Amino acid sequence: MNVAIHPNYVDCVVRCACGHTFKTRSVKSEITVDICSACHPFFTGKQKLVDTAGRIEKFQRRYNATKLGSQKKSKKA
Ligand SMILES: [Zn+2]
Repeated sequence: MNVAIHPNYVDCVVRCACGHTFKTRSVKSEITVDICSACHPFFTGKQKLVDTAGRIEKFQRRYNATKLGSQKKSKKA
């Protein structure tokens, strides 16, 4: 076994944006995450919208624009 190529496998603390922390082992001593098993909707059973960079708002704006567009078309017909 080639010993020199293996990375350091150390104790690791994972910190979530919700405040939950847990320990595991990794090549990094600390990992920060946005979502974890304590706050993810799949595990909590609660509906929660994870809006990344305003994508929901962007969709709603585009959807409203499409609705207005189709109304204009129906007036002409
Ligand atoms: Zn969390």
